[in-house]
Amino acid sequence: MSQWQPDSWRAKPIVQQPTYEDKQELSQVEDTLKSYPPLVFAAETRELFRQLGDVAEGKGFLLQGGDCAESFDEFNAPKIRDTFKVILQMAIVLTFAGRCPVTKVARMAGQYAKPRSGDFETINGVALPSYRGDIINSFEFTKEARRPDPQRMVEAYHRGASTLNLLRAFAQGGLADLHEVNRWNMAFVENNPLKDRYQDLANRIQDSLELMNVMGINATNTPTLRETMLYTSHEALLLNYEQALTRVDTLTGDWYNCSAHMLWIGERTRQLDHAHIEFFRGIHNPIGVKVGPSMQEDELIQLIDALNPKNEAGRLTLITRMGADNLEQNLPKLLRRVKQEGKKVVWSSDPMHGNTFTSGSGYKTRNFDAILREIQQFFAAHKAEGTHAGGIHLEMTGQHVTECTGGAYQIGDADLAQAYKTQCDPRLNADQVLEMAFLVADHLRV
Ligand code: PEP
Ligand code: MN
Repeated sequence: MSQWQPDSWRAKPIVQQPTYEDKQELSQVEDTLKSYPPLVFAAETRELFRQLGDVAEGKGFLLQGGDCAESFDEFNAPKIRDTFKVILQMAIVLTFAGRCPVTKVARMAGQYAKPRSGDFETINGVALPSYRGDIINSFEFTKEARRPDPQRMVEAYHRGASTLNLLRAFAQGGLADLHEVNRWNMAFVENNPLKDRYQDLANRIQDSLELMNVMGINATNTPTLRETMLYTSHEALLLNYEQALTRVDTLTGDWYNCSAHMLWIGERTRQLDHAHIEFFRGIHNPIGVKVGPSMQEDELIQLIDALNPKNEAGRLTLITRMGADNLEQNLPKLLRRVKQEGKKVVWSSDPMHGNTFTSGSGYKTRNFDAILREIQQFFAAHKAEGTHAGGIHLEMTGQHVTECTGGAYQIGDADLAQAYKTQCDPRLNADQVLEMAFLVADHLRV
C-alpha cells in the first residue's frame, strides 16, 4: 500500500463532495484553516480511545447523539445547553442501570456536512443543487444560497470552536453536578404520562446519591460528582476541511484529526478504494463507520482490516443502521463472523437511519416505536451471539421539537407541523430521547 499523507485521499475517487467554482479561493481557505489552532487536543482523543477500548471489551457503554445537521441559524447557548443537559440525564440512567461507565460523545461542534441522496433537488419544476450542510451551502432554495462557498468552512470552524468552548465550560463549571442532573430526571418523570413506569429507577438513583451524601461523598469533595467529559464527533465528509485540521501530535509524532475527538464515515462514502477510507486509515483518532443492511460478511472484514489493521480495541466503532424490519435478517451473521475472526470492535446501534419515512402530512419522520424496536432487536441479537451491545447513536435534541412521531406524549402525524425545525433528518425531542434512555435501561440492567 502506498504511503499515507494527509492529502493522499486526493488521488482516490470521491463521492458526496461539492464542486467549488473558485479553486484558488478554496486553497486559500484551506491554508487559513491549517494556520488555526486545533479544536481538540490529541491526549483527550487518546483518553476517548482508551475508554472505547473498554467498551469493545464489554466494560462500558457508548452514548452518542445530537443533531442530524447542526445549523448556523440555530446556533445559540440554550440549544447547546439543552442538548448537553439531556445527554447527561440519559447517561446517569444508563450508568446506573448498566453498572458500567458511560462514555458520552456528542454529534456537536462540527456536524455540518451532509451526504444527500441526489445532487439536485427539484421544487415546482425548478432544479437546484442539493443542500449539503451549512459548512458547504445554505438551506434556502435559491441559486445563490445553494452555491458551495468555501468561506463557510471558516465559519464552521469558528462556530465549532464556540460550541466546544461552552460544552467544556458546562462540563467543568458546575452544570454537570449529578444531584442536579437527577433532579431534572425526577422532574421529567413527575410530569410524564408514563410516570409509573419510570419513577422507580429515578427514585433508586436519588436514593444512591442521598446515601453517598450521608456518607460524606458529595460534589464539594468528589470531582466526579460535579464534572464530566463530553467528547465531540461528526461525520468527516468534507475532506478539505478535515485535512486542514489534521496535525502531527508533538508528544507521539502521530497524525490526529483535531476537528473532533471521534470521526465517522457515512454509509454512502465507505467504498474500500475511495478517498474517505484512505483519509481515515492514517489518522489516530477513534473512528466509526456506518454499517447498513446491504453489508456482507466478507466486505465487513475487509473494511475492518482497512481501518484497524492492528486490531486495536477502541479504534473502530461499527455503527449499525439496519432498520427495525431488517435487523434480525442482517445483523446476527455479521456479529458471528466478526467474533469468529477475533476482531476487536465496538458495536453501536443507530436506530434512526433505517427507519425514516415520509408521513401522510408530507414530513420526513421516524416513529418512536420503530426506533425502540431496532434497539431492542440489537440487544437481543448480541445476547444470542454472545457479543457486547456497546452503544447507541441517536439523532436528538434537548429542545421540544415535533419531528418524530410517538412517545409518551403521542406525537401524531398532524402534530409534526407544530415545531418541525430540522434542516435534515428528524430528531427525537428531549422527552422522547429521555424516555428512550429509560427503556434502554431495561436491557442494560444487571
Ligand atoms: C447521519 O448519521 O446523519 C447519516 C447521514 O447517516 P448514514 O451515513 O448512516 O446514512
Ligand atoms: Mn441523519
